[in-house]
Formats: sequence, C-alpha cells, structure tokens
Amino acid sequence: MDVQVVCPYCGVGCGLMLKIENGKAVGVSPCKEHPVSKGTLCIKGATADKIIDHPLRLKYPLIKKQGRLVKASMGEAIDLIAKNFKRIIDTYGANSIGVIASAKCTNEENYLFQKFAMIALKTNNVDNSTRLCHAPSVSSLFESLGSGAMSNSYDDIEKADCILILGSNPAVTQPVAFRRILEAKKHGGKIITIDVRNTETAKQSDIFAQINPGTDIFFVAGLIKIIVENGLENKKFIEERTKGYGEFLNSIKKLSLDEISDATGVPEEKIKEIALEYSKKNSAIVIGMGITQHSIGMENVLAISDLALLTGNIGRSGTGLNPLRGCNNVQGSCDMGCVPNILPGYRTFTEENIRHLESLWDAEKLPIEKGMTQCEMIDAVPEEILGMYIIGENPLVSLPNITSVEENLKNLEFLVVQDIFLTETAALADIVLPSACFAEKTGTFTNSERRVQLSKKAVEAQGEAKADWVFIKLLAEKMGYGRFFNYKDSKEIFEEIRKVIPQYSGIVYEKLEKHGIQWPCDKESPEGTKFLFENKFNTTDGKAVFYPIAHRKTEANKEYPFFLISCRLLEHYNTGTMTMNIDSLREVSPEAVVEINPKDAKKMNIGDSERVKIISEFGDLIAKVEFNNGVKQGVLVIPNHYAVVRVNRLVGNALDPVSKIPAFKDCKVRIEKLRS
Ligand code: SF4
Repeated sequence: MDVQVVCPYCGVGCGLMLKIENGKAVGVSPCKEHPVSKGTLCIKGATADKIIDHPLRLKYPLIKKQGRLVKASMGEAIDLIAKNFKRIIDTYGANSIGVIASAKCTNEENYLFQKFAMIALKTNNVDNSTRLCHAPSVSSLFESLGSGAMSNSYDDIEKADCILILGSNPAVTQPVAFRRILEAKKHGGKIITIDVRNTETAKQSDIFAQINPGTDIFFVAGLIKIIVENGLENKKFIEERTKGYGEFLNSIKKLSLDEISDATGVPEEKIKEIALEYSKKNSAIVIGMGITQHSIGMENVLAISDLALLTGNIGRSGTGLNPLRGCNNVQGSCDMGCVPNILPGYRTFTEENIRHLESLWDAEKLPIEKGMTQCEMIDAVPEEILGMYIIGENPLVSLPNITSVEENLKNLEFLVVQDIFLTETAALADIVLPSACFAEKTGTFTNSERRVQLSKKAVEAQGEAKADWVFIKLLAEKMGYGRFFNYKDSKEIFEEIRKVIPQYSGIVYEKLEKHGIQWPCDKESPEGTKFLFENKFNTTDGKAVFYPIAHRKTEANKEYPFFLISCRLLEHYNTGTMTMNIDSLREVSPEAVVEINPKDAKKMNIGDSERVKIISEFGDLIAKVEFNNGVKQGVLVIPNHYAVVRVNRLVGNALDPVSKIPAFKDCKVRIEKLRS
C-alpha cells in the first residue's frame, strides 16, 4: 500500500509516496502527479522514511529526576506539566510562559498551540521559526502589498521571462523549486543570481553578480536608478496601483551609480545589464535568507518590493515576489497566528479583533497585548519568563548567541520540550514529550506557494508517541480548559480553522485530496488562488506602497575583519535533528567545514584542510578549512546545521528593529591558527 504524505523538510512541499508493508514504512518514492514536485524529490525527501522507525526516536515521556531524564508515564508527565504551568501563572502572572511553536507541525497543531497559549497560558508569547528566516519578508510585504506570503506559484515562476534570485541558493536549499526555476530556460527565460558567494545556483544562472556582503540594498538601489534614468518604469501601473512614489523617487537620488558600484563591488555595466533584463520582461523575483538575515532585513525586502512595483512586475502570471520558505509548514504556522504580533489569519491586535476571536471561541478575556519573539522570550529569563513550552524546535542550536541562550534556558523554572528526537534543547528540559512524526498523523501543511496539502497518517506511532495536538488537548483538559479543545480528530480542528481564518474558509479536507489548494480559497475564489494581487493589493485602499530606500550597509570591523556567512547544505536541514540521524545523509557531510578564499588563507599561512579557530565578540569555535575560489576575499562561509560546531555561538544579539530577525549574516569574525 502507498500513502501520500507531504515531505517533512523544506517549504517546497513535495509529495512523497510512503510504501507501507505490515504496518511499517519500507520505502519512499516521488508522487508522480504532484503539482509541485511532479515526480521528483531531492535526497532529503527520498530518505525521509528513515526517520520513522529510527532507533533514537522518543517513544515515552521523560521526566528529569535528580538531574537525569528518566522514562515516565504519560499521566505523570501531563499532570506535572499542567501543575507547573498553573503554578507559574498563579505565582508570576500572565505572560510568564513563552511558547515556541513548530514550523514542522501541521496547521491543526499550530492553530491549537496558539489557541492554548491565549486561553490556557494567558499570553501571546508565541513564536515560530519564521523569526529566524523570513520575518522581514512577512513584515515588509505585509506593509507594502498587504500580504507577506509568496505572491505567485511555482507554475508561474516557470513562465517568467526573467527570474531574479537575490540572496538565495535554491539549487541546494530548495532543489525541487530550483528545478522548476530552470524550466523557465526552456522558453528562453533568463536566470540572474545576486549573491555574496558563487553558489550552485549562481553557476547555473545566465548572469551572476557577486556583491560585497551587506550591500544588497545598494545593489537594488542601483537597478532602480538605472530603470528610472532610462525611463523604463511602468508609469501606468505606478499611477493606478501604487502610492508613495514621489518620496521613494527622492530617496534614490541620494547615491550615484559610481558609489553604488564601489559599495557593491559590481561594475556599473553589469548592474545596467541586469536592470535592463529585469525591467523589459515578465520578471519574477525570488529571495532568500541572504536578504533577510540582517539588521536591515526589512529595509532590504522593502527595496526589492519597490523594484517589483516600479516595473509593474507583480499581480500577473510569470511575475511576483517570492520568498522561498525554509520549513515545510512555516507558512502555515504564520497563517495560524503562531507569531506574537498577529492573530490567526493575519488579523491585527485590535480590541475588535480580540472580541471577534472571543466570540468564535466562546472565550473570555483573551490577552490583547502583543507577545515576545523567541529571542525576546529567552532574553527575558528569569525576570519575566519563568516557563517555556518548546515544540519541535531546537533553539540551543538555532538561535544567536548560544552561550547566553544556554544559560537562560538553564535558568528557567520549568521547561517542556516536545519532539521526535532528544535534541540538544530537549536534553535541558524538565519534561520531554514524545511526538509522532509526519507519517504518524493526519493533518495539513501549507507550502511556500500557499498550497494547503493534506498529509495522511501512514503508520501508527510507537510507544506513547502522539500527534502534537493530542498533547495540547490532554494538557488543556488537565488545566481545566477542556471544553475549548474538545476535538476528536484533526479534521474537526480544521473545520474550526475555516471559521477563524478567512483565507482558509473555502477549503475542506475533501478538496485537498491529491493536489491541495492555494489560499485564499473563499467564496470569491472557490478553487484557490494561483497568484495574488491581480486586481488590487491587500492594503486598506487596495494600493501598494512604495517605501523610500534606506542606504545603509554593514560596516567592516578592524578587530574582526571577516564577514561570516552561515549557509545550508543539500543533505542537511535546520539544526540536523532529523538529517544527522540518517546515515546516508550524515556520511555525505559528517562535519562542518569553513570555506575561505585561498588568497586569504595564503596571507595567513593557512593550508587547505587545516583546523583553525574562528573568533567573534560572542564566542569561538574550531573548524576545518576548505579552500573555495567562489567565496569572496574577506568572507568565510560555514553551514549552520551542526550541533558540534555551532556557528550561532559566534553570532551576536543584533536584531532587525521591526521584524526582530537576528542578524545572522552581519557576523564579524577573525581567524587564528591553532598552535601545533
Ligand atoms: Fe523535501 Fe524540499 Fe527536497 Fe522537496 S525539495 S524533497 S520538500 S526537502
């Protein structure tokens, strides 16, 4: 028997067929008719079945006794969690507990995490991993266009005449999406990549511009300047569908092309070639974390949004602004409201919206004040945050300034972690609950292109592992809030989601069989929506907003002369909690290596494969060097998946002031040779 499920890894959302024999998963194959993956998978998806019966999977609750996590009964674990959550709220008041929800859990589960936080924990301190990847895209595009999601579809990207990829390496990070991008070449579409590194994506592009680190906004300003100076702006579109153009226009006069070329390290002629290519065609933009993970992440995305508006390259097939999302349900987790500053369905925190939610849930006195982001929650330990509930995330590897994260997690009065493996974070917990994995539960996931897909339970979970929503139901019952969480299955939860989240109102499980459906799906769009903004933007007056370009770049630092760029690998995913447990993936890249330009290495008398110490203001690590001519001089590149070599040990606390994403890509370091 084959059961169709959604890949548990990246936001592309490929369809897998799990082969089931005698109740066990014995293999995986690509789903041939799948609308996204079309019969292909990358090596992560193709080995996803290895997670299911892995010997290290958590099967029973664990409770810390005398410093050691020991097996416990489900009843004891749930009882203890409920007692401690109640004790913390009674002692320290509302907002003393923080929740990190999981971008790898289903929509139904994320919806309940958020509802549980508001009703039972009395807080909006709920966040998910969007904070670490595309929070600036969500916030900026919400400001400028009225929706922070990917505007178009993979089908649409294939139709583009030009695809401009900025700060993203989909050939490695979202390989199946990249195959769809390459399809555009068949009808003569051009692929242009702008990146600090000469990546796999850059190598397969028609044009590549290698920019200096932290100068993305200058580069985009250069494109805009050339388009305006050559009269290539789309005047009709600007006039009819946008506002704020005058102030934006003034902002681009402040820098000359000379200065832009100097700052970015890209010759004027190349900037011009790219500007003409993008503006004269049906063009789509793809962005990644090279753009967002900066203290000016939001300003970077706003500038890119300006570029699309300037040329009218949005609101049509083959155009658009497309942040490629990292986790398989990071889009859904945001849709469900698992972020501290918005309610389910992207409703803002107003009295009216809170009252509306109270009436839908038949609840009283829901917390109206916005919550804290995950970095803020951990920074607030132990003064304001005394307890945390972390579901399917591993902040001890994924957050910046790990030394301080570890100290603060240890300072919590009470930590609960719910996961499929005993992660580095779970090892610190007071109680660990064993989650069912993707193949052991039914539920929906929403991929990057807003496609809500149904993933069906293929096998039974082992031991006492349960779907994450079941733990919420058990805890709510124990804490006296059972009537708000009285669901018999995920379909019943989804029926409630339809009432609360307008974008999902027209979706029913039956419609999701095989192909899924792209939100918004409502009375106006009963078959879903392939691309957004065809007739109007989602802003209050329907017009998109130009924002003035901020001319700021990351400054060099004499004491720490290298820019450290964290990257991702094809064979690994996030903090490696799943892929490091799969032999065939771990063996491809068993250890983190730091890539360096050989000219830089030579200056410091560092040889290929030599181990070096990398030091920042916040910590240090030791890693093996690998020479790579594709890395710019003055830049080091290191993958972020490894718990042993935790690159985030080196990253400081700087955040984008509005979206609060940590500035992972503004990290300055120096290298020291190890004494022999
Ligand atoms: Fe899974 Fe992403 Fe690979 Fe598709 S591209 S198989 S969703 S990891």
